Amino acid sequence: MTVTLDRNVEAFIGSPRQLFINGQWVNAASGKTFETPNPATGETLARVAEGDAEDINRAVRAARAAFDSGPWSRMTPSERGRIVWKIGDLILEHVDELAQLESLDNGKPFLVAQAADVPLAADLFHYMAGWATKIEGNTIDISVPYMPGANFHSYTLREPIGVVGQIIPWNFPLLMAAWKLGPALTTGCTVVLKPAEQTPLTALRLAELIAEAGVPDGVVNVVPGFGETAGAALASNDDVDKVAFTGSTEVGKLIVQAAAGNLKKLTLELGGKSPNIVFDDAESSAVEGAANAIFFNHGQCCVAGSRLFVHESRYDEVVDGVAEIAKSIKLGSGLDPATQMGPLVSDEQFRRVTGFLESGRADGATALAGGGRFGDRGYFVEPTVLTNTRPDMKVVREEIFGPVVVAESFSSLDEIAAQANDTTYGLGAGIWTRDISKAHALAKKIRAGTIWINCYNVFDASLPFGGYKQSGWGREMGHEVLNNYTEVKAVTTLL
Ligand code: NAP
Ligand code: MG
Repeated sequence: MTVTLDRNVEAFIGSPRQLFINGQWVNAASGKTFETPNPATGETLARVAEGDAEDINRAVRAARAAFDSGPWSRMTPSERGRIVWKIGDLILEHVDELAQLESLDNGKPFLVAQAADVPLAADLFHYMAGWATKIEGNTIDISVPYMPGANFHSYTLREPIGVVGQIIPWNFPLLMAAWKLGPALTTGCTVVLKPAEQTPLTALRLAELIAEAGVPDGVVNVVPGFGETAGAALASNDDVDKVAFTGSTEVGKLIVQAAAGNLKKLTLELGGKSPNIVFDDAESSAVEGAANAIFFNHGQCCVAGSRLFVHESRYDEVVDGVAEIAKSIKLGSGLDPATQMGPLVSDEQFRRVTGFLESGRADGATALAGGGRFGDRGYFVEPTVLTNTRPDMKVVREEIFGPVVVAESFSSLDEIAAQANDTTYGLGAGIWTRDISKAHALAKKIRAGTIWINCYNVFDASLPFGGYKQSGWGREMGHEVLNNYTEVKAVTTLL
């Protein structure tokens, strides 16, 4: 059984998609297009204009003009807020359509995109819309010891940072676009967004909704293309004031180098290898929680609970339980309502994840569940639980970004803090226990940007999200993100 395709979806994928620059739908300057495949079959889903450096530069010029002299910068915060709110409303009017497009392009179950990705994207715009009228500076009573007797009036202004380049990945294509665009629009910035080559479709549909909401021409430009060309051109463009990037730590480091030319501001949301810790006194629901922590979105989550640590007294019960769940997960096309896990996003990711499985096997790890490819068509990988691992193994140290968890045991609170922090990453962590003091004590010791206690994968537009260590710079969502899209100006008057 499969979901019947929405008529808008059929029309959208039925003709080649163009770039969105300065409010116009245009072909790439080179005339080139690329295909985005359906990961459930490996067949071509749609063709998309392939932006490169020339298109990125054209989009940056449009964003610059829209920032410097367009109507956007003259709008009141209230007007801007209403437009941002409207984007959220329009997303909610098209939930099924966007969820189907996301499922087709990324592989994730339609029902998951419909319940989570799309409503969360709408909620982000609604949350951010409220901030448009609440971005404030303050007054400061200054002392200036070398000017005795002088009186001053000093205040700060919080101003939009300017033209922002946004480079996003394929794991939550629409939601990542929302996380980036919401705060940029609320603060009055203008944007050039480059979606991932694997999943450009929902960002392009979102651009249509953004125009419909009343965002002026040039404020949001969407240029699909490849990282090495379009992405690199955006990161190094001297007319871009800030880049916000989500993706691998490896590419994050390239972005840092590319940004050095004009020292543009950077925020980076990078990889993870997050510990999920189950204590001896955890509720039995921790088993399902641990499975959800790694298998949600096929493990293609930067916060995936990919290192499961279980107290030695509960190790067999919990790890066997997670393995049983892994074996019961129904894999299939994202458009089949019975599907619990779809294919990985691409052939490249499929090879990468199965490569990790081979390396684990060669290093002596045991697959308690899964361990290989599922079926013989599309990019499906079995949900996998690896045991008998050692801390130095590649499968334990590196981000796999697939449905693969490594399970280890621990014996004490002190030991587990050190084990949890034994990673170059610091994005998330889970703690499962009935002893809430112990949970908070451990939460303080773990060097990560998000800690979940007796839950996992709980996201909200009002919660700041980001990484310690090599998981990134800065925070997304919450009011924290507004600091990353604004500059502070101190103004002083001698009275
Ligand atoms: P990636 O290469 O880091 O891609 C993320 C984004 O950066 C994409 O839009 C990509 O373009 C772009 N990009 C690539 N090279 C670039 C460059 N030199 N300059 C500017 N932009 C560039 O990630 P991936 O290849 O899709 O996945 C590889 C691994 O990254 C995954 O296995 C996973 O470990 C990690 N990852 C992490 C996250 C996360 O949320 N933290 C998300 C995705 C992937 P293209 O569209 O051409 O790729
Ligand atoms: Mg890539």
